[in-house]
Amino acid sequence: MRKGNGWSRRGFMAACGGALSAAGIAAPAGADEQPAPDPGSYHEPARNIPIARNADLVVVGGGPAGFAAALSAARNGAKVVLVEQFGYLGGTATASLMANINGFRNQVEPDATQTVRGVAEEVVLELKQLNALGKSPYPQKSYPTLPGQMEYSYAIDPERFKYVILRMSVEAGIDLMLHTWFCDSIVDGGAIKGVIVENKSGRQALMAKVVVDASGDADVSARAGVPFWQAPLDKTPRLDNSLMYRIQFGDKRPNGQYNVDFGRDAVVWGPGATPMDGTNGDALSKAEIAARLGVYEDLAEKQKKNPELADAKIIETPPLIGVRQTRFIEGEYKLTADDALEGHRHDDVVAMSSCAIIHYYGYRRYLKHEGYDIPYRCLVPKAVDNLLAAGRCISSEQQPYESHRAMIPIMAIGQAAGTAAALAVETGSTPRSLDVPKLQERLKSQNAVLGLRG
Ligand SMILES: Cc1cc2nc3c(=O)[nH]c(=O)nc-3n(C[C@H](O)[C@H](O)[C@H](O)COP(=O)(O)OP(=O)(O)OC[C@H]3O[C@@H](n4cnc5c(N)ncnc54)[C@H](O)[C@@H]3O)c2cc1C
Repeated sequence: MRKGNGWSRRGFMAACGGALSAAGIAAPAGADEQPAPDPGSYHEPARNIPIARNADLVVVGGGPAGFAAALSAARNGAKVVLVEQFGYLGGTATASLMANINGFRNQVEPDATQTVRGVAEEVVLELKQLNALGKSPYPQKSYPTLPGQMEYSYAIDPERFKYVILRMSVEAGIDLMLHTWFCDSIVDGGAIKGVIVENKSGRQALMAKVVVDASGDADVSARAGVPFWQAPLDKTPRLDNSLMYRIQFGDKRPNGQYNVDFGRDAVVWGPGATPMDGTNGDALSKAEIAARLGVYEDLAEKQKKNPELADAKIIETPPLIGVRQTRFIEGEYKLTADDALEGHRHDDVVAMSSCAIIHYYGYRRYLKHEGYDIPYRCLVPKAVDNLLAAGRCISSEQQPYESHRAMIPIMAIGQAAGTAAALAVETGSTPRSLDVPKLQERLKSQNAVLGLRG
């Protein structure tokens, strides 16, 4: 496993020490010193940057986890800023067109317990009202899609998903900063104090009592100095980085079931890129180029195998190639394969997953029980205070990650992170010293499913 501790704070402090001292944050000794000349680098001059927001909570990343975190925190009374690089929310579900959301219950028996409710259930019920649910391609038992009776998986119309989660966010009073790129973490005395972002208005600081890292890639944690790990590339399945695309059918409607299928058009799996490190800018760029140059060939291959697709055409490629996994934080606890396979119970459970482990064992390994606990400690990073992780970058081994990365448990994890952040602000504690039973009580009162204890 590759290990790292991210970037140094030095570059950041050199760049914005002035504004930070105005905010009462000390620059480290030597931060303003000119580094020794290096022909391979450019010394970015120090400058003051405006403090654009003073919030209770900044959530970085508006994917399923970040959306659920921001929504839950705002509903629990926190003043929340949500930072997202795209002009809409939804992350992989919308920006990578992977709009098949899985994970309300085990896909095979025992599936008697719905292991996620709360925000995720609310979103799917809203989508149902808008007639925005399609048929999932996954085999599963059919449930009637009522509160407490959700199916394992739903295909969702990505456009109406964007609409629903944006509307919910606005209604909850979240301060949305779209088209805004997280650049760096502001860390002082072992605690995160805010983040640096860039958008059309330039570089700005957003100060916060708590920061939730829902960037998927653990960008905030890595730049704050939280230790993390990444799987070696030869262990990453090729389809982990895939460009999905949308096709419109011609006159003939194929019999096949497609990933996100709405009758006249469907989203299909496109070319898989060679395994690459999605936190490496050049690698990501090359993967996009290779996948995009391959889409028409990919459709031609599909048409050869399925003549009913002869007059199908590509009508959309999304802005971002799907990237399944990158960094995982090292947290106060790392979820283990055993936890998932044996269904271990944890006293600090804040969410659950009942999804199969997808690739690791070379087959889809279903759970022989109804679900396992995700402990709060997996969201609490080592080394840096006032920071929580939500989504696919939480502290986990590979095997359980391949289960809890599905978007329904991901939203449950987001709900837990946002509620924890709001509670920390409300009670004047840090996320690390939070009263976890109180958090669990709050989550349960907001419809979260916490463990299967009687
Ligand atoms: C190819 C593929 C197939 C999948 N299949 C399924 C499936 O069938 N069903 C299922 O449920 N799940 C599936 N998944 C998994 C699921 O989509 C992810 O695990 C889930 O979306 C993770 O949610 P997240 O919110 O943690 O991260 P993401 O969805 O990655 O969202 C992260 C968000 O942060 C934003 N962001 C990142 N960095 C920055 C930055 N520096 N500044 C500002 N914004 C930033 C991104 O734009 C994005 O909106 C699949 C994933 C992939 C890639």
